[in-house]
Amino acid sequence: MKRLLVTGGSGFIGSALVRSLVAQGHGVLNVDLQTYAALPGALDEVDGEPTYQHLAADIADFSVMSEAFREFDPHVVVNLAAESHVDRSIDNAWPFMTTNILGVANLLTVATSHWAEGGRDPEFRFVHVSTDEVFGSIPFGSFAAESQYRPRSPYSASKAAGDHLVRAWFHTYGLPTIVTNSSNNYGPFQHPEKLIPMMIIRSAESLSLPIYGNGFQERDWIHVDDHVRGLLAAYELGDPGETYLFGTGETHTNLFVAKSICRLVDSQLSRPPRTGEQSIEFVEDRPGHDFRYCIDPTESTRKLGWRAAESFEVGLAGTVDWYCDNSSWWRSLIDSDAISRKGRAR
Ligand code: NAD
Repeated sequence: MKRLLVTGGSGFIGSALVRSLVAQGHGVLNVDLQTYAALPGALDEVDGEPTYQHLAADIADFSVMSEAFREFDPHVVVNLAAESHVDRSIDNAWPFMTTNILGVANLLTVATSHWAEGGRDPEFRFVHVSTDEVFGSIPFGSFAAESQYRPRSPYSASKAAGDHLVRAWFHTYGLPTIVTNSSNNYGPFQHPEKLIPMMIIRSAESLSLPIYGNGFQERDWIHVDDHVRGLLAAYELGDPGETYLFGTGETHTNLFVAKSICRLVDSQLSRPPRTGEQSIEFVEDRPGHDFRYCIDPTESTRKLGWRAAESFEVGLAGTVDWYCDNSSWWRSLIDSDAISRKGRAR
C-alpha cells in the first residue's frame, strides 16, 4: 500500500483515479480547491473510508501545501489540479496562469523539499497529468513524446508551461518526475460544460446542438478508465524524466460524435431515429481552434504495457446510458452553473 497525494481529485479524471486507488487499498490525500469544476457525488463511494482524506486547498498555497506534505508524507504525487476548459481560458486566461503555471511551480518546490528532506527516495514519483493540446494541431499522423510543443490556446499554453517546469525540476533538482499527455477524455461524471456531456444533455432535453465551424475537427477520444489505468502504470512502472502518451490512435470528427450521440439518445429515450440530429446547429468557429489531435500510443504500450481497452463505440454508449440514468446529477450542476445552457462546445 502506498500513500498518494492526488491534486484535483474532485474533478472528472481525478475522482476516477481516487476511486480506483482507494479500491486498491492505497492511502489517498485529495487536495482540491473545490472550484466550480469539483463534481458533487463523484467521491461518495470513498467518503468515509479510513484510507481517504480530503483537503480543500489551493496547490499554489506554499504554507498549506508544505504542511500537507509534512503530515501526509506521500510516496507519490499525481497532479491533476487544473483549470481545464478551453472556452473559459479564452474568456479569462488568468485563473489558468495561476493554477496551471504558478500552482505547478509551487507544488514542485514543495515536493522537492519534501523529497530532499526524506533522503531523496528513488522510488518517489511526481506524476504531472497533461494534455495532447500542448502539441497544437496535427493535420495527419499522430503525436509522439518527442513532438514539438505548439500550444495555441491560453489553456494549452498554460499546460505547456507546467510541463516545461516539471521537466526543468527533473533536470535541475533530480526530482523523479513523469509527464503524461492524454487525448480527450470522456465517461461518467464529466462536467456538463464539456463536449460529450453537453451534447448528450442537450440532445436529451431536445435543445439545439451547437457545433463549431463545419464540425470536421478530429479528436482522439479515450475513456477515462483507460486514462486512469495509464496513470497507475506510469507511477508504478514509469521511469523518472520520461513522458508517456495515452490515446487510442483513432480519431472521430465532432460531427460524427454529435450524430452518434443523437442516435444513442434517441434510442435510450425511445424516440424515432434521427430526431436529435435535426437539432444540430453550426455556430461560428472558436478562435485558435485546433483542427486535429491524435496520439500514437505504441511507446506507452511498449514501455508500460498499456493500451486503451474500451472502444469508442462501446464507451460512448455506456456514457450516454450513464447520463440518461443520472439526470438529477447533471440537472443540479446545470442549475448551479447556467453557462452550460448556452451551448458551449469543446
Ligand atoms: P476538471 O476540470 O474536471 O477538474 C479539475 C479539478 O482541479 C477540480 O476538481 C478543481 O476543483 C481542481 N482545482 C482547480 N484549481 C485548483 C487549485 N488551484 N488547487 C487545487 N485544486 C484545483 O479536470 P479534468 O478534466 O479532470 O482534468 C484533470 C487534468 O487532466 C487536468 O490537468 C487536465 O489538464 C488534464 N487533462 C484533461 C483531459 C480531458 O479531456 N478532460 C485530457 C488530457 C489532460
